[in-house]
This record gives sequence, C-alpha cells and structure tokens, in this order.
Amino acid sequence: MTPIASFQALLRIPTVSTRDAEAWDHAAFDAFHQTLREQFPLLHKHLSVTRVGSHGLLFHWAGTSRDRPVVLMAHIDVVPVEGEWTHPPFDAVVEDGIIWGRGTLDCKGSLAAICQAVEDLLADGHTPAQDVWLSFGCNEEVAGDAAPLAVEELRRRGVIPWFVLDEGGAVAHDAFPGVEKPIAVIGVTEKGVTSLELRVDGRGGHASTPAPLGPTARIARAITRLDRSPMRASAPDATVELFRRAAPHAKTPMRYALSAAVRSRALLTRLLLLAGPEPAAMARTTIAVTTLSGSPALNVVAARATAGVNIRILVGDTMSEAIAHVRKVIDDPEVSIRVVDAGEPSPSSPLDEAFDLIAATTEEHFPHAVTSPYVMMAATDARHFTRISDRVYRFTPFEMTKAQRESIHTHDEHITVDAYLKGIAWYRTLIERL
Ligand SMILES: [Zn+2]
Repeated sequence: MTPIASFQALLRIPTVSTRDAEAWDHAAFDAFHQTLREQFPLLHKHLSVTRVGSHGLLFHWAGTSRDRPVVLMAHIDVVPVEGEWTHPPFDAVVEDGIIWGRGTLDCKGSLAAICQAVEDLLADGHTPAQDVWLSFGCNEEVAGDAAPLAVEELRRRGVIPWFVLDEGGAVAHDAFPGVEKPIAVIGVTEKGVTSLELRVDGRGGHASTPAPLGPTARIARAITRLDRSPMRASAPDATVELFRRAAPHAKTPMRYALSAAVRSRALLTRLLLLAGPEPAAMARTTIAVTTLSGSPALNVVAARATAGVNIRILVGDTMSEAIAHVRKVIDDPEVSIRVVDAGEPSPSSPLDEAFDLIAATTEEHFPHAVTSPYVMMAATDARHFTRISDRVYRFTPFEMTKAQRESIHTHDEHITVDAYLKGIAWYRTLIERL
C-alpha cells in the first residue's frame, strides 16, 4: 500500500458526526477502525489502544523515557456534505496531483499523516525517545465527549503531557495582506465560545392594542445597545508576535505601517479594528446576536421575546467579564440573561522549548515560510487538553491556499499529494526529534 492509497481508503468512509445520538452511523465508524487496522498494521501491533467513548481511539507508543510524554491529536469525524462538488466527496479522487474529498484537510489528512509517520518509523525499527500518545476523537465537529474522555483517561494514568499538538494552524498561503511568503501559524490559544439567551416576558395580547416597550421592543433595544458597545479591544501577545514576525516580509509601504504598529500594542489594536471584521476579531472579544424569536403570529403581541448571543472570548478576557459587559450595556433589569453554553478562552501556551521544537521542524520542512504563534479563532478538541498540559499547540503541517482553507466545512475540500507527503515527513521529523 502506498501512503496515498492508505489515505484514500480512510477518506472513502463517510464518518459524518451528528449531535443526534440516534442518527449516529456506527457502521461507518466501525469500518474506519477496521480500515485503520488494515492500513497501519505495525502501528496496531506495537502501540496499545484504548477505545474512548463511542469511537474515539487513544494509542500509546512507549518511548525510551516517560518523562516528557507527547500527545498528537486529530479527529475521525467529518462535517456533512454541502454544496456542489467537482468530485464526489467520499470517492477520494486523485487527479493532477490533487486529492479531493471531505476530510482531506479537516482532519483525516493529519490523522492519516500521523499514522503513516508512525508506521514508517516502526518499519525502520525506531523507538521514540519519549512516550507518544495518539488521540483521535470521533465527535470533534459536534463538540462531543471523546476528547474530554481521552483527557480523563490520560489523567487516570498519571500522564502529564509535555506538549499536545492538535489541528489548527497551517502553512497558510495568501494569509497576510502584502506578505507573499506563506505563514506557518501555530495556535497557542483559542477563543472561548460562550452563548447566552436574552429574554423578555410580557403580557402579550392583541396586536391592535399594543403597549409601548413590549418584549420585542425591549429585546431590539438590548440588541442595538450591544451592537453599539463592543468590548474593549487589546491585541494579545500572540497577535502582536504574529505581526512582529510577518512585518519584515511585507512589501512597502505595508512594511513600514506594520513595523510601526508592532512597536505599539495600542496602535496595532486600532489598525486591526479598522481593517475589517476578521482582523478586528484578532484584537477583541466579539459579541454576535444570532437568533431571534417573538410572536408566532402576525396579529399577536409577543408574550416573550428572545435573542441568542454568541460570544467569542479572547485570551485576557473572561466569561464573567463578558457577561458583566452584556448586562451593563443592556442596562435593563427586564431583560433576563441565561448562560446556554459556557466556555473560557484557552490559556496561552508558552513559546519555550516545545514550541521551538514545532517551529524548528516547520522551518526545516517549509524553509520558505515565516513561522509564528497566533490566536486561533475556531474551537478545537485541543482546548480540553489544557486541563492536563500547559503546552497545547494547534498546527497542521500542510500548505494550504486561501481557497483550500475556505473549502473546509463547505465543498471541494482538497489537498495536494505533495502537501500530504510533506506533512508525513514533518510528523516523522517531529517524533524523531523528541
Ligand atoms: Zn477539525
């Protein structure tokens, strides 16, 4: 079996995760486990495996030393198919050096690359210098229980990882305006996701005799107040560091602007806020009102109005600060606030020896890229591992264009054969250097 054929075999299994346990496709996940065993026989012979939750897998590769164990993560599940695909999403078509399919980037690519690197090292008789754990969740896309259960399992065994590496950043092309070089971004923290429900109750009644400032009007007022008063902004260290490292590679006059900005956090923050919603999200906790409900009928005054608020909390802020801000800005005791989902931002992982190992491996395999820490905007399973490790990094060693990054969770997800093979080599070097 070639590495590409093994990868294709995994891509062809539609391991789509769902929030509805009834609709869970157990057969697909069972087939994935079976195919993994067939494609990576040495891995299954030499590593011990623990099943975690319904279909999560935790492999243990005993190293020469147990002092500084390392966890490499990925996930088995994929999001459902959406949109029109050039090639069928579960056929794993390879054409002109490109592998097409759901999960090529998120996240079977890194899962298969990790397994291939381990398989190849085992074939060469390699024993890692440190214990290596492979943690493959089965419900990352639906924020499921496999990752927290893997954390519990490691805790039960007394494993305190030296570092944990999950998906997240990439060797991103066209990532930075004015910077031609790709930037290899390594996530050192991720935003916390907290959701609130705002609610106003009233008397309802006939729409022909409305009272002023009823539930819908109060909810609307609360929303516009929130919209007008974002939380204070301050670019966190990882964002400043990203700009500091990228600035020298920007074209003039962008280079001068960026170089000036990184000397002052306040100036950088202001520039990010002016540059649009995406850069602004790198500098502050964001608050978005997403869902709304009022009366079910056109001629009925709402007896209750609700609004859903999705908050992405930046490292440096806390959930309680964000909720206090919402309460203060709305400034209306009639609007009740209920926490639906609670999530703090992940603490920042240090830029020390472990980060340097990941960065040096990246610089060796992608010498044309600028390597930097950054704040990840999306949520990953990695956040659960901050409970047992101070060093949790988010990086997928694949080169990705902007179009490829945008294909994640939509249609035409794909990776080049070359990028996939380079990813295998990257994981191999990382393990060899432990
Ligand atoms: Zn993913």
